[in-house]
Amino acid sequence: MVLSYHRVNPWYKSDALTVNIEEFKKQIEYLIFKKFKFLKADEYISTGNEIRKKVLLTFDDGFADNYWFAYEFLEKLNIKPLIFLVVNYINTDKIFLRYKSVEKDRFLNWKEIFDMAKNGVEFGSHTLTHPHLTLLSEEKIKEEIINSKKMIEDKLGKEVKFFCYPYGEFNKKIEEIVKKSGYKKAFVTPKRFRRTYYSNFTIKRVGIYGHNNFLIFKFKIWKEYLKENF
Ligand SMILES: [Zn+2]
Repeated sequence: MVLSYHRVNPWYKSDALTVNIEEFKKQIEYLIFKKFKFLKADEYISTGNEIRKKVLLTFDDGFADNYWFAYEFLEKLNIKPLIFLVVNYINTDKIFLRYKSVEKDRFLNWKEIFDMAKNGVEFGSHTLTHPHLTLLSEEKIKEEIINSKKMIEDKLGKEVKFFCYPYGEFNKKIEEIVKKSGYKKAFVTPKRFRRTYYSNFTIKRVGIYGHNNFLIFKFKIWKEYLKENF
């Protein structure tokens, strides 16, 4: 299964995108205790059901708190997450409208990204500006998908293989552009009560949110495990 997180920090108690640090650690340790195996993105994609309890950990948006609060913990466990960057937010003071503090709510800078990349953390594209792709012209969609890939590749000197749709919004045409742009896979967290187009190219993830208590977390994990294996 592929898990999707956004933020990990000690500050926000009622922010859906923030999972408290202690809660996050407890969740990861639980998966290890239950013999789930954390794989790197490439390994995850290239293996089939021979590894039944495989997990890929992903973070959306590229918040700096991934580096501050999750990275060291994951390093110690040799877990290499896949982080999806909003490229035009890197190295800037820009923050999402829902947040207030430029200090706490900023996104990763290149120095932090390099530091993680050299230790095996994988980076994917989450577009340039985090738009609603389905509302854009084809030209704009291409710009968001192609330029973001190229910019990360130029900085890291490494192929960017994975893409993640902002807000989980996409359609067949958008997926086709992602595929043609050279990405190997796309990721999405399905929205509840909304039907979307799905294919083998786009991998569905289980979204873990701040309001999910430990019981809900376990429920989500085992529900997904059953869905994938039986
Ligand atoms: Zn996002």
